[in-house]
Amino acid sequence: MKVTVVGYWHAFPQKGEAASGYLVEHNNYRVLIDCGSGVVSQLQHYCNLDELDAVVISHYHNDHIGDIGALHYFRLLQPYISNKGVKPFGIYGHQEDAEGFKKLSFKDVVNANAYTPNDQLELGPFIFSFYKTTHPAACYAMKIEAGGSTLFYTADTGYMPELAEAAKGSQLMIAECSLYKGQDGAPAGHMNSVEAGGLARLAEVPALLLTHLPHFGDHSRLVKEAQAECPGISVETAKSGWTITL
Ligand SMILES: [Zn+2]
Ligand SMILES: [Zn+2]
Repeated sequence: MKVTVVGYWHAFPQKGEAASGYLVEHNNYRVLIDCGSGVVSQLQHYCNLDELDAVVISHYHNDHIGDIGALHYFRLLQPYISNKGVKPFGIYGHQEDAEGFKKLSFKDVVNANAYTPNDQLELGPFIFSFYKTTHPAACYAMKIEAGGSTLFYTADTGYMPELAEAAKGSQLMIAECSLYKGQDGAPAGHMNSVEAGGLARLAEVPALLLTHLPHFGDHSRLVKEAQAECPGISVETAKSGWTITL
């Protein structure tokens, strides 16, 4: 499974970059996880938009769905742009927030599909499992398996050790890290660097990628603070185009 960071900023994208978006690929099947502001532009560095098979959304905050409208318009115009025909395309979200779920659909061009935390979602070679997080909007972390590899994405969440249980056995944990050591993210449903590192230690994953990064401070400090909590685990911060094959 190939994983590429399309966007990694908390709240809004910095110049020329994007808020949350991650591309996973296996056997020529491509799933975009979250579609924040700037993602549709940045994604085209890594694949053509018509090569996307599915989109899975963790929750309906704008830094995770800000570019859904751009994807809708792409699908609307695709038949006029491409002579290759329109590839089937699915967009998936939870239905706990009916208003949010509605935003995923567009006329008869894009129909949203619901995932539920009780069922696994199979998309091509991928199997998704969902875990509710601690966040002001209903939000789901995801375990993503394909070809014998496993990725765990916390999405947006306050610290909750239960997620570590779910993440056990993964080769990589992509964990949100919105704050620095000493800053309390709990009221906003976010983790700081110490909590992200602690979660990786409990999950016993070999690698931790910090994402959903703050617009202030020095990100290298996030790595040092998280690393102190999980010695022996590889810790990096997300960057546009960061990629790994698990
Ligand atoms: Zn959020
Ligand atoms: Zn967010």
